[in-house]
Amino acid sequence: MDRNRLEKAAERAEQILTVTNSLRKPIDPFAIAASEETITLIGDDFRQRFDGQLEFHKKQNRFLLFYNNKYDCGLSAGAHHPRTRFSVSHELGHFYLDPHHAYLRRGGAAHRSRGEFVNDATIEREADAFAAGLLLPSKLLRPLVNEEQLSLAVVEELAGQFRTSLVSTALRCVALSDFPCAMIGVRDGVVAWSATSQPMIAAGFYPPSKGSTLSRTGRERWPAFESGTGRWSEGSAFAREWFRTYDRGELGGVHVTEHYLPVPSMETLVVLLTIPDDALPTDEESDDGGEL
Ligand SMILES: [Zn+2]
Repeated sequence: MDRNRLEKAAERAEQILTVTNSLRKPIDPFAIAASEETITLIGDDFRQRFDGQLEFHKKQNRFLLFYNNKYDCGLSAGAHHPRTRFSVSHELGHFYLDPHHAYLRRGGAAHRSRGEFVNDATIEREADAFAAGLLLPSKLLRPLVNEEQLSLAVVEELAGQFRTSLVSTALRCVALSDFPCAMIGVRDGVVAWSATSQPMIAAGFYPPSKGSTLSRTGRERWPAFESGTGRWSEGSAFAREWFRTYDRGELGGVHVTEHYLPVPSMETLVVLLTIPDDALPTDEESDDGGEL
């Protein structure tokens, strides 16, 4: 149900791209905001206070969309950092997702509280899913993602084309991939979050639970990342070292390629995992019972 809500939010974003005639890469969330008569965009250096905030002002019947432009420092005039673009897109989610919009209109200026709004984690995750769908629409991204199995080089190339962060691009690529692949975020030496493509799950590899341990290679690489000397690198492991296979013996020997991507700003070691298509057991090999 939760997943469904997030998918709906991304679909809504793609509808908005069509309605506003904005389906060109890189997507311009600023132009979309400017096309809405009731939105006023206000960018400033809000330091540590917030990345973005949407307020409804009843008397003027206006939404004020504040965004922190501190990440744009050093860029050429008019250019925006992927993080700024994501913040504005996230706030547009609060504007375009009907329950969010209604909430803000109901709230009124006097009782509006940012804390109140942030408390409902589902609402924030919906706005994030909207932002990812807006900046990385499946109509444009899916064909590019599925030319070949995912790699960090492909993710980097697409992040450049769509002007999005490596992490949000990689997550979206995995979600849209027709190849068996996954992405895992490692914090404090254990799995913090993961995303798995449908073909990976269909092959019998289920995402690890939060707090799971890493593969042997991952455990070896973790200290370098923690000390700040980690680099982009590749490794190899048995897929069962990362995924839950529910003791399906025929999956035990399948290898996974590990692509390590340190992201110090998120205190996260991101690991992209891919399996070559021909490395998966064929139907005959896996036809050894145990399945319903
Ligand atoms: Zn929000």
